[in-house]
Amino acid sequence: MFAHHCSVCDETYLIFDSQLTSLDNTAHGIELRFACWCGAEQTTISGRLAGRRTVDAVAA
Ligand SMILES: [Zn+2]
Repeated sequence: MFAHHCSVCDETYLIFDSQLTSLDNTAHGIELRFACWCGAEQTTISGRLAGRRTVDAVAA
């Protein structure tokens, strides 16, 4: 379970495991695809590499 701000309905909701449609390891971290409570398909990056990418983005 994690909190996500939806780019379609502009609301922050808790997303549960049952809403996940795919989970893939990528070079940028763990890519999670899921359906928001409004029905919109959303994607987020999770895992240790996701935090590292954010630090790199701030430093750049
Ligand atoms: Zn939504």
